[in-house]
Amino acid sequence: MLQRSLILLKPDAVDRGLVGEIISRFERVGAAVIGLKMLVANKETAMQHYTEDLAKRRGEKVRELMVAMLTSGPIVAIALEGVEIVEVVRKMVGATEPKSAAPGTIRGDYAHVSFKYADEKAIGVFNLIHASGSPEEGESEVKVWFAPEEIVAYSPTYTKYTIAR
Ligand code: ADP
Repeated sequence: MLQRSLILLKPDAVDRGLVGEIISRFERVGAAVIGLKMLVANKETAMQHYTEDLAKRRGEKVRELMVAMLTSGPIVAIALEGVEIVEVVRKMVGATEPKSAAPGTIRGDYAHVSFKYADEKAIGVFNLIHASGSPEEGESEVKVWFAPEEIVAYSPTYTKYTIAR
């Protein structure tokens, strides 16, 4: 039941100074931070992340826009570990479209724009954060962004009451 989720704090989150705020939410629910780094993504890695699957679901244009957006400035990659953490994190992140994201979620609290607006302006929707959509995606996405030696699989004290090791 222990799963990994790959989080990306997208350029808008970093530029807006929301890194600490967002990470603290994950610490507060007792997820273990086992990988953490700031980087500027290259196009190749961004395309490994935003795969054909995104083009199939949302269209090739959205994939192109998202690759451009993800490589446009510094991002923070985080590997989280926790009990059924993929679903928990997606709940905390909220709906893809900020306009529809519930208050209390990361996207709902810090963003508000609609798909309609992003599409009219021909931009990827700025919604601050990526989080893996399934446990399988969590495993594979962590490998896209972190080399094995960059993962520090340990048990921080604050996870004592959430993860029984
Ligand atoms: P999520 O990030 O919630 O898993 P998707 O994988 O479907 O959502 O989409 C990846 C990202 O592409 C979204 O987070 C969002 O930034 C962007 N996006 C999705 N659909 C659109 C759209 N119609 N117009 C602009 N940007 C979009």
